[in-house]
Amino acid sequence: KSHYQVLIIGGGTAGIMTAGQLLRKNNKLDIGILEPSETHYYQPAWTLVGAGAYEFDKTAKPMSEVMPSGVDWIKERASGFIPEKNTVVTESSGDITYDYLVVATGLVMEPSMIKGLPEAFEKGVACSNYIDPEFTWETIRNFKKGNALFTQPTTPIKCGGAPQKIAYLAADYFRKQGLKDNTHVIFATPGSVIFGVKEIRETLNKVIDRYGIHFKPFYAPKEIDVENKIVHFNHSAPEENRCVINEDNELGEKMIGDVDIQVPFDMLHIAPPQAAPKFVRESVLANQTGWLDVDHFSMQHNKFPNIFGLGDVAALPTAKTGAAVRKQVPIVVENVMSLINGKKAENHSYNGYSSCPLVTGYGKMTLAEFDYNNNFIPDPKLKRMLVFNSAKEHWRLWMLKKYGLPHLYWNKMMKGKNV
Ligand code: FAD
Repeated sequence: KSHYQVLIIGGGTAGIMTAGQLLRKNNKLDIGILEPSETHYYQPAWTLVGAGAYEFDKTAKPMSEVMPSGVDWIKERASGFIPEKNTVVTESSGDITYDYLVVATGLVMEPSMIKGLPEAFEKGVACSNYIDPEFTWETIRNFKKGNALFTQPTTPIKCGGAPQKIAYLAADYFRKQGLKDNTHVIFATPGSVIFGVKEIRETLNKVIDRYGIHFKPFYAPKEIDVENKIVHFNHSAPEENRCVINEDNELGEKMIGDVDIQVPFDMLHIAPPQAAPKFVRESVLANQTGWLDVDHFSMQHNKFPNIFGLGDVAALPTAKTGAAVRKQVPIVVENVMSLINGKKAENHSYNGYSSCPLVTGYGKMTLAEFDYNNNFIPDPKLKRMLVFNSAKEHWRLWMLKKYGLPHLYWNKMMKGKNV
């Protein structure tokens, strides 16, 4: 078959939810999903896998189990767009045309954007929950003393909180193993603060103090010296925030010239640089920064009105998370249905909602929920369930992360329910 009324690229969180919710509106819709992968992952639990608190196998399900019945699963990779002809090019089964297109490809890891990082991964010198969370856990377990360095890139990443969550879990683990006195946990980030939302930042600053974590803002990783186990950072701070590094500091940090800071490590966890898939970022559908150019409130493409984009691939100025997808899908679905019914895509109500479950230790978590303006906006449904201030650490939030959210994901979100 080479034409669909609605064609969706990607069977991840956004693609499956969109198809499921469209079918609940009208089960006669003719929907195709392009998705080459045989496995669907619940990625948010990879943070817990990296800390030995969740089994990796439980984060995976066969794609066939999440594909809504009633859609055509096209086991193929999209490789290009001809939007003027309502056409998607595929890798090996030719062109597919559509009335409406939903782009939900997620993003890709681009380790090569940091010199030495591909080699560091290959040689097992660096670990990452974004690539292989089981190896992160192995690395944490084997670590006995020295610098445990956690960092993140300057590109947008999915789940912006994940690089620091694993730092907190590791610090908690080292403390429990009696290693605290022999270790320095360092969290180095290109950002200026630990978290953009004030209420959450206050909690996290206390967490950092509790573990004695060395927090390094304005540290942008640019090169990994694999042989000597050193990360080179570009110190990106404005004049008034520049740090001074003393010669014999306890971390062995060195400042070379004005902007090059070198930090030696004994273990390294890094979120690799991330980008939209190449065929998206090099297409006419991308904006100047290489992400899918959609309206921030309706998620309709800015040039081609029969195309929508959501999830990690979309150029939306909010945190790229599954939680954000949960709020984006109903709006995209309503807008696609309006177009199908001959009306305009008039739902412009996405407010940038995203959330980040910041695990702060074993059995502890704070839940950041925010909008485009970084206002703290706890979801009323969750608030009713949890009945306390979710900006503070709480074991009940940990239970939500470990049990509640995976359940919500597999049994509600993946089943086309608007939750
Ligand atoms: P994905 O779910 O990644 O799906 C994209 C799909 O598109 C994939 O199945 C892929 O195979 C397919 N695809 C790619 N290219 C093509 C192509 N050319 N043709 C056809 N199909 C293609 N979110 C939270 O809400 N809370 C968290 O705590 C959280 N923690 C995270 C921790 C980690 C370590 C990671 C990695 C992610 C975390 N996330 C979290 C983020 C969350 O998983 C993503 O934001 C979410 O999955 C985005 O959904 P998506 O559909 O846009 O992309």
